[in-house]
Amino acid sequence: MKVGVLALQGAFARHAQVLVALGAAPVEVRCPVDLADVDAMVLPGGESTTMSMLLDSSGLRQPVADRLAKGMPTFGTCAGMILLATRLADGRYDQRSFGAIDLDVRRNGYGRQIDSFEKDLVVAGLDETFHGVFIRAPVVDRVGDDVEVLATVDEAPVLCLQGTVMVSSFHPEMSGDTRIHARFLDLAFDH
Ligand code: GLN
Repeated sequence: MKVGVLALQGAFARHAQVLVALGAAPVEVRCPVDLADVDAMVLPGGESTTMSMLLDSSGLRQPVADRLAKGMPTFGTCAGMILLATRLADGRYDQRSFGAIDLDVRRNGYGRQIDSFEKDLVVAGLDETFHGVFIRAPVVDRVGDDVEVLATVDEAPVLCLQGTVMVSSFHPEMSGDTRIHARFLDLAFDH
């Protein structure tokens, strides 16, 4: 199974390592042709304003939107969550999101770099907690009716699922724990 990892900017290398550990074949996606034979995709953390700009300059914006519209299973983490949400608060004036999961998110809602934190999360479907690393993470302000919330911090959703689109406001690729990526691969390839 080929899983594209958007590799324009940010934490894409670690995602690729986790995917390899799980037996998937990551494909770094930098231009439209790279998307051709991927079956699923990861949008990593990083800086969503920069990624939004690079999606336009690389010509990837429309091809990614088209694949999302056709139901390509996609996992967005942190900046990737921002890029997949319906509505964004505190974004830069020119940044745009795909609207692939019905969420309103607030960029840097947990504060700036210095307010980054780590927390053991209770995740629906996992027997043991998952160590969540939050770095300038977005806060989810609204969750649509079709969105399933899989984990929260102080009642705010931090891991959500709608159909085959999963998003986390934390960085699961940084915990040395493959369970959340494994869950994504299960939902991507068993549906
Ligand atoms: N605050 C960043 C943004 O706006 C996201 C941070 C992250 O991905 N760790 O895109």
